[in-house]
Amino acid sequence: MHESPLTFFKEPLRSASLVDRFDRQLNYLRISVTDRCNMRCDYCRPAADAYQAEPRSQLLSFAEIERIVRVAARLGVNKLRITGGEPLVRKGLSELIASLARIEGISDIAMTSNATLLFKEAKALVDAGLHRVNISLDSLNPLHFRTLTGAELSPVLAGIQAAKEAGLTPIKLNTVLMRGINDDEVASLIDFAVAHDATIRFIELMPMKQGMDWDKHYISIEDILQREDVQQRVQVDAPLLTSNTAARYLPLKEGKGSVGFIMPMSSRFCDGCNRLRLTSDGGLRSCLPADEQLNLRDLMRRGGTDKAIADVFLRSAMLKPEIGVYDFSSDNEKRSMIHIGG
Ligand code: SF4
Repeated sequence: MHESPLTFFKEPLRSASLVDRFDRQLNYLRISVTDRCNMRCDYCRPAADAYQAEPRSQLLSFAEIERIVRVAARLGVNKLRITGGEPLVRKGLSELIASLARIEGISDIAMTSNATLLFKEAKALVDAGLHRVNISLDSLNPLHFRTLTGAELSPVLAGIQAAKEAGLTPIKLNTVLMRGINDDEVASLIDFAVAHDATIRFIELMPMKQGMDWDKHYISIEDILQREDVQQRVQVDAPLLTSNTAARYLPLKEGKGSVGFIMPMSSRFCDGCNRLRLTSDGGLRSCLPADEQLNLRDLMRRGGTDKAIADVFLRSAMLKPEIGVYDFSSDNEKRSMIHIGG
């Protein structure tokens, strides 16, 4: 029998908050709503033949996600990011976003998407309460794009346009840098972002459970900033501007805005980490590369109370490492981006 939230939380709203052992306030919950995707990017999922999506019955229902967020909001979580797999392959996503937007305390809802389905969903998502979208864009070359993702580039470009028209701004573009695959496109991707009034962020490849050889394809942001075509566009000598996210920014030349860099391998940003992650099968993770995750799904399906859910959040906060460790030897199947949600 669920305890009503009112009886459970004796103290008024907002007094409780999730603070870890290093005094980091954890107010940001990334929610993976599915481990399925309509693309197959090798850096995101284990080798194609090794990847098995969870049976749908094992994925959290929208009602379960909403209940978890209701408890998390009472613990001070106010920022949500919807991720996947590809979140838009999960039917009825706008209804979930509408229910999350109604939860007291939740002030910001964003999403990360490959944009292939945005051209038909963008308006409904905004009406439901979605504020912003980050769009994955790893190449502007249609052939390279198809090789990388197994999908076509044009729906993504249409999705970016639809997001702009629907007001899902500012649009941020995310590019995972891969040596020998797309590291020669940095300059053209910057030009594309400027032309589309978007901000692009380049992300260092992380050694997660994936179908890509990290040693072969990893390239540091520092290497990229040595490039002439990049230096023609970016004020590489300017101080890196930090933000309240994992990204750091450098100004573009001629006042064309800025470009972002997310450097999980070469310049850690754990000191300001405010994130917890909920996987699509109900695992609560305190840190992206960490192996441990606490099972909220089974707890709830066994009749667990809201207090028990809150206790799992508090335990996860206590388990959060000071600095996340990318354990190259881990073969934990659950440690793939498609499973965790990035
Ligand atoms: S590695 Fe872990 S602690 Fe560091 S920023 Fe990522 S999630 Fe946060």
